[in-house]
Amino acid sequence: MDRTFVMVKPDGVQRGLVGEIVSRFEAKGLKLVGAKLELLPEERVVEQYREHLEKPFFPGLKAYIMSGPCFLMAWEGKGVAAVVRRMVGATNPAEAEPGSIRGDFALDIGRNVIHASDSPESAARELGIHFAPGELVDYSRIDEPVLYE
Ligand code: UDP
Ligand code: MG
Repeated sequence: MDRTFVMVKPDGVQRGLVGEIVSRFEAKGLKLVGAKLELLPEERVVEQYREHLEKPFFPGLKAYIMSGPCFLMAWEGKGVAAVVRRMVGATNPAEAEPGSIRGDFALDIGRNVIHASDSPESAARELGIHFAPGELVDYSRIDEPVLYE
């Protein structure tokens, strides 16, 4: 089954949004298969955002991500990477649809509450950066037989 990497950024943790965000994915029917609260070391922030290393916003982005604990998660479900990106909403919260996490809970692109992998390939790469294989758990959710046709 497909898996993706999702992270509540330090502003989301500080604002007490972890529970709300976890609830949305749980209610959708996605399965939580890994989770931890961490202060990220610089090398993992650089590795996660390597496509943005040369961008003018990178130093600010790195400082923001390292400013406090992040809540890291692995979610599983059919087409999960694309499903989660739609639930997260546009990068700029001012343009994110109401009903999306960024649309409902954020205002500023530099404080947009949550990260989610942008494709199945990114998901595999980012899960590998942040989780050891033994930290991801295989189990069945009791509602799986009625969630999927
Ligand atoms: N970001 C920023 N300023 C920008 C563009 C991006 O601060 O002009 C930050 C923002 O936190 C964003 C992250 O860099 O979530 C990664 O950017 P990306 O374009 O990959 O957006 P995402 O995949 O998070 O929607
Ligand atoms: Mg991105």
